[in-house]
Amino acid sequence: MSLRRQPSEERLLAYAAGTLSVPESVVVATHLALRPQTRAWTDLGEAIGGAILEEAEPIALDGQALDATLALLDAPASSGEPAVPKGADASLPAPLRHFPLGPWRWLGPGVHVRDVLGPRDGDCRVILLRIAPGQCAPRHTHGGVELTCVINGAYATEDGVFSPGDFEEADPSVTHQPRVVSAEPCLCVAALDGQIRLPGKLGRLLAPFVRL
Ligand code: ZN
Repeated sequence: MSLRRQPSEERLLAYAAGTLSVPESVVVATHLALRPQTRAWTDLGEAIGGAILEEAEPIALDGQALDATLALLDAPASSGEPAVPKGADASLPAPLRHFPLGPWRWLGPGVHVRDVLGPRDGDCRVILLRIAPGQCAPRHTHGGVELTCVINGAYATEDGVFSPGDFEEADPSVTHQPRVVSAEPCLCVAALDGQIRLPGKLGRLLAPFVRL
């Protein structure tokens, strides 16, 4: 059973290097906003990643370097927050406050989805998914990579429970049906590359609702 609840090292390094797609970066940034302890490693990657790539020699990450990075994270922000644009939601984690949101759309019993407008890369886009307590997302697999970060509430899959800040990576090899296990609705942000694939006739009926 995988207990990973944060992005892979490859994805964190790509984020730090600025080579991750914008939609995937938005979801990784949301995770980092909710889980600063992961951000420490991303910041280290930004600081030394170039050296690692150029030298191709292992560099030990000692405790002092990590402590120094954590201290930087505790420093106040150097500039004020940008204004929240019209149609955005100021209650969301900071990386999501800068984007207008589409209307909530019904996806199934207790399941609603809305588009995060702006971050897009080809077929990859960002959505917010809100699922009521005790309800499930449609059972599905993926046409491409799906990155999910929990904002509020919690859901469970065969891999266990995902709580606020937890990050899940899925791809065409994964079929799952997240089920909300929290007393409050579960709100997630997800970057979807390609189409969600829903098996069966119900899936064909629902598929248009997860398209942008
Ligand atoms: Zn999925």
